[in-house]
Amino acid sequence: MRILVTGGAGFLGSHLCERLLNEGHDVICLDNFFTGSKDNIIHLMDSHRFELIRHDIVEPILLEVDRIYNLACPASPVHYQYNPVKTVKTSVMGMINMLGMAKRVKARILQASTSEVYGDPQVHPQSEGYWGNVNPIGIRSCYDEGKRVAETLMMDYHRQNNVDIRIIRIFNTYGPRMHQGDGRVVSNFVVQALKGEPITLYGDGGQTRSFCYVDDLVSGMIKMMECDGFIGPVNLGNPVENTILEFAEKIVTITGSRSRVVSRPLPQDDPKQRRPDISLAREKLGWEPGIGLETGLARTTEYFAGRIGQG
Ligand code: NAD
Ligand code: UDP
Repeated sequence: MRILVTGGAGFLGSHLCERLLNEGHDVICLDNFFTGSKDNIIHLMDSHRFELIRHDIVEPILLEVDRIYNLACPASPVHYQYNPVKTVKTSVMGMINMLGMAKRVKARILQASTSEVYGDPQVHPQSEGYWGNVNPIGIRSCYDEGKRVAETLMMDYHRQNNVDIRIIRIFNTYGPRMHQGDGRVVSNFVVQALKGEPITLYGDGGQTRSFCYVDDLVSGMIKMMECDGFIGPVNLGNPVENTILEFAEKIVTITGSRSRVVSRPLPQDDPKQRRPDISLAREKLGWEPGIGLETGLARTTEYFAGRIGQG
């Protein structure tokens, strides 16, 4: 198949492009390089089945493809809050452009939605039937509400125009090629631990997250795209939950670091708990994560150690 990956030069996108190429597909990676980097995909450039397009999905484009994975959108709070209006445009205008293309060329389209559609959840763990608890006017809203509208657009293009859609809700995912300076907890803690700098714990660290290794996530994404008769939304993530304090301690142990944990203010609207209910993914896709935190963090640490070594 000919497959378009928007945001293909980013963290998740680059792993997805690599996997799809390995499966024998033709892959078009589209990216505006806001948070993505050519370094993430340079090793794919030699393949004659790989193409790269510098483009912003806020502007229309037409490509003859069979599949569209729409991943283009900054994902870390630091990056999506840098230019919040642009974040909304990417999720809304970008989604309309990608859905218009899917409709025109009759491609199947998968949207990378997020656990953030559940906001600061009052139901725990979160299952797909929960409608969420999202602040519409806070500093995270540009991302959360943008992604919620993107899901609405997917459903409306499906009902109104019969577009073949798939929606996945991704929970915190980590691994090599995360952006070193994107402010997310995994990259921050690992880099701080490796450099022997203080580990910046926001709030008391009692908030929880569940971390999924990138290879597991990519498998789930592809399974969902190729699953017939099920459009989602479906949660994809690792159901093993940790407090952020436990997570900080784990990283200090794994890296053998001498860093100490220091307290910093909790950002506004930071969700207090998050854990995916993945029953639906298990039932419909036969998918569940197989890579534990120790293994995943060891691979991630190795990656960042190499990057820091390069300066
Ligand atoms: P990332 O920032 O590494 O990747 C996003 C990519 O999209 C980057 O390469 C960036 O340059 C590109 N991009 C941003 N705006 C664009 C635009 N207007 N036009 C074209 N390209 C644009 O982030 P990621 O972690 O790889 O996330 C990928 C997708 O998965 C995002 O849509 C994100 O919302 C979603 N997601 C990720 C996670 C996670 O834990 N990593 C969790 C939930 C959802
Ligand atoms: N966090 C932290 N220290 C950091 C970065 C993040 O304690 O240096 C916390 C953050 O407050 C949140 C959790 O870690 O509770 C996950 O943050 P991240 O930005 O990775 O993702 P999200 O909040 O979107 O899940």
